[in-house]
Order: sequence, then C-alpha cells, then structure tokens
Amino acid sequence: MTRKFLALLLSASILSPLPSIAVAPPDFKQEAIANVDGHTKLIQVMVDTVFSYGEPGFQEFKTGAYLTDILAKNGFKITKGVAGIPTAWTATWGEGGPLIALGSDEDDLRGVSQIPGDPKVEPIVPGAPGHGEGHNSGMPLQVAAALAIKAVMEKHHIKGRLMLWPGIAEELLGTKAFYVRDGLFKGVDACIFTHVASDFSTAYGPSSNGMVSIEYTFHGKTAHAAGDPWDGHSALDAVEIMDVAMNFRREHLPLSTRTHYVISNGGGQPNIVPGVASVWYYFRDYTFDRVKSLFEIGNKTADAAAMATDTTVEHKLLGFAAPNYGNKPMAELAFANIQQVGMPKWTADDQAFAKLVQETQQRKVEPLLDKVTPLKAPTEERTPTGGGSDDIGDIMWTVPTITIRYPSNIPNMIGHNVTSAMAMATPIAHKGAVAGAKAVAMTVLDLMMTPEELTKAKAYFDTDQQKYDTYKPLVSATDVPAIHVNDDYMRTYRPLMEPYYYDSKKYDSYLDQLGIKYPNPPTGPIRKIVPPKSSSTDSSGG
Ligand SMILES: [Zn+2]
Repeated sequence: MTRKFLALLLSASILSPLPSIAVAPPDFKQEAIANVDGHTKLIQVMVDTVFSYGEPGFQEFKTGAYLTDILAKNGFKITKGVAGIPTAWTATWGEGGPLIALGSDEDDLRGVSQIPGDPKVEPIVPGAPGHGEGHNSGMPLQVAAALAIKAVMEKHHIKGRLMLWPGIAEELLGTKAFYVRDGLFKGVDACIFTHVASDFSTAYGPSSNGMVSIEYTFHGKTAHAAGDPWDGHSALDAVEIMDVAMNFRREHLPLSTRTHYVISNGGGQPNIVPGVASVWYYFRDYTFDRVKSLFEIGNKTADAAAMATDTTVEHKLLGFAAPNYGNKPMAELAFANIQQVGMPKWTADDQAFAKLVQETQQRKVEPLLDKVTPLKAPTEERTPTGGGSDDIGDIMWTVPTITIRYPSNIPNMIGHNVTSAMAMATPIAHKGAVAGAKAVAMTVLDLMMTPEELTKAKAYFDTDQQKYDTYKPLVSATDVPAIHVNDDYMRTYRPLMEPYYYDSKKYDSYLDQLGIKYPNPPTGPIRKIVPPKSSSTDSSGG
C-alpha cells in the first residue's frame, strides 16, 4: 500500500457520509464515473441491441454472443455453456485479490413484443417475445461497469478479479440454482446483481418470494372419444382434477402463498381421449420451508389426480428460486454510492414520454423520480402477501450479494406486460443504465480496495443471515436445467424478428431505425407485419 493511497483512504473516511464505512479513494471512484460516462454511447447501443434481439429464457444465443464478443475484445476470458446451459457464460478478468461477480438477467417474455417509444400497445412482431420487464438493460450496465472498473484497476495496479455472468431464463427461474449447485460461485467473495426499476435503490435482509416451478405430465390411454370412451383414460381429466383440487385447496393455504399454472399440453383433438396432458405450476411463498410444504401439497394433489383417473404422473422440476436476502454491509456501501451518483438528469422530453405512456395506458401519472430511494431496514415481522421471485436468491445464500435497482423504466407500469417495454430502448433506459453502472463500479472498487468491508460482508453472511435461515434448495443432484423450453417458440419467431434487429452501424439509435421521433408517438406504419406461421401469444414469467 503506497503512502498516497493511505492518505487517500484517510481522506475518504473523513469525507464519507457514513463514517463507519471504509471506501476506495474518491479520486479512483471519480475515474470510474468518468469511464462510465465515456461509455455512454456503448451503453445505448448495447441496451438497444439486446432489446431488439428480444430472446426469451434459454434462447439468449444472440444476446450472449454479442455481449461476450464485446468483453472478449476488452481482454475478458470467456467460458461458454457453463452449468450445462448452452446460453450461459462467464467472462473473467484480473489477477489475485478479491473475486467480485457481476450479474443481471437478460431474457425476455413470450408474447409481449412492443415497439419502443410508442405509448400504444403495438408489437414489433405480433405474438413474438419482448422485453416487457426491461431485462435488456441489466447486462449492458454490468459490461460498462466492468470496463470502467478494469481501466481503473489497470491504471493503479489494483489486485482483484471480476467475473461477469448472465441471468439466463430468469423468467422461468431456471438457472441460478443450477449455477450454485454446479459450483459457479466457488471462490467468489461477493456478488453485485442489478435489476431494472423506476427507482434507484438497494436493500438488505429478506425480500421476495421463494418459488419452485414444476410440470406434471399425466399419461393415460387414448380411445375414440365418441365410439368407445370407456376404453380410454384421460390425461386431461387428471390435469383438470388437479387444477380444481388446487383451486379448492387455495382457500386453506396461508395468504402468503401464490399458486399459478398453465396447461402446457391439453391433448390433441376432441375426438381422441387425451393420452398425454401436462400442467405447469409455480408454487411460491416467502421461506424455504413454506415453499417446500406447498410443493409437497402440489405433488400429493398430482398423485391423487392420477389415482382418480387411472393415469400415471411424471413430476419434472423446471426451476427453483430461493427467497432473497441482501447483504447489509454491501448495501450500505452501495447506497452511499447511489447517493453520490444521484438520479439521472431527466429532460423535458423524458418526462413528456413518461406522462404520455402513463396517460395512454391509464396508469397513475407520476413523473420520473428525481430522488434516490432511502436505504430502509427490513421490517422485523414479515407477513408478506405474495409477489414475484428472482433466483438471485440462490446466489444470495451462497456468497454475500446485493441487488442494485437502477432507474431505467417509467413508474407505475404493469409487470410482465408491454407497458414495461415501452421505455426500454429510449433515453430513459439508457440514462438509468449509465447511473446504475456508476454505482456498481464504485461499489466494486470499495470492495476490491478495502478488505475490511469484504470481511464485514462475509461476517454478516455467516452470522446474521444464517441465523435467519439456511439455504435449502429443492433442486436435486439429478435435476437438469429446462433448456428445451421456448425452443419451438423461437423456431417460429426468430426469423420474423431478424429483420428488426438493431443495426447500430446504420442508425444512431433503435428509435431512429424504427423512425420514431421521441418523445412523440409514431404517426405512420413503421414496419411491415409478417403474420407468423403458427401464433402463440401466451406469456410465461418470473
Ligand atoms: Zn426481472
């Protein structure tokens, strides 16, 4: 450690808004901020490009190839196909020192294709997937943060390593438990995850729901449905009996549970007694034990439905998400940085577009936020009533981890819906990702350069967090990631989406390519609609 560095550290601790926190030298953090600002154009291009690829869970081939190419060109070592998942990858760089992991989700949602910059519901390709949660912005943010950090580390000979990883198939809660099971986070000291939001914040302690995703496939016997139905055993009857039983059971389940399903195979045609039928359930609650007991009720009900119909049933686990638990010392570090970065400078055009979307979609009208969200202590007594999940929980129970929420979207949009896609390739999304990248870069430097902060994060993980609960995943040693999901769907839609991929060499922005004069809505037809060969507009999601 140089004397200059010690002096900087000392001045940092004097200037710090939270005196108990040791942080990286302010000069180094200013350099990181300047580096991110230097990547503003790259961030816009990455956010727009990933938006235009619009790939759902396990189909993130273009997105992965594109982002890893940028990282490889910048000296990162790429490993593809990690944890047996073709679209998963890691990008590592550095030597010695702590290993900090940076991740975000990159998949989108079935059936929510949407033209960005358009306040009306208007798909780019009807029925195609779309970024109706804004996952197109998270990995571009992390790539920009990593490039900014790397430059500071190289310049000042700081020891440390970075590992970037994408959240694959998050909407299916499909991969992070497998990453953990297969040892992807072995040797990682801490992880910073980011998620799109309309606010700029972080949190610690327990939050969100745990979840298990399971498909029950019933096997019966076909017969002529009118000629000799008594010779058949309907697998669809079993599905329906299971669903009715679960819906009656719901009355007697804790209010915190969430149980939802889709019939993923309802049989072939009415005159054949269905020989095979499947129903796909998500079971959620806010602790590991509660998820497990709901899962057991589901399994028992499926077995009972099979018994009632003289069919057999196969249980296939498709995904799992641990309840989230954020690391307090890391959240405090990140929050100080979030405060320093502050909200993006929204223009009148940004506010006008946000208002236009809210009014057109009849959502509560509220301007883009101008203040960061305070860091709040979690409530002691939790009685949550539902809510979504993110399998970052599995990583949170493996290494000290936080989520930084960054302001790339408009307030009061509907989740898993086209409204959440409307701003996601506009200046609002771009500026939010720039702000988020700065907070990540600064927090990584804090962790890399102040070993005592990393020690504090680990101590909190080992004591406070483990006292609250311990990691109990429902993924077994023999379960495999559900990489087949969305395969057929993308075989239909990818060729229809290709003509709308963003060409950053020809167009300044994706809005330019689509002929949209932000913040004004498009006035004429901006694309030729090619009807898909087979149409499927259902959506699935995290
Ligand atoms: Zn998400």
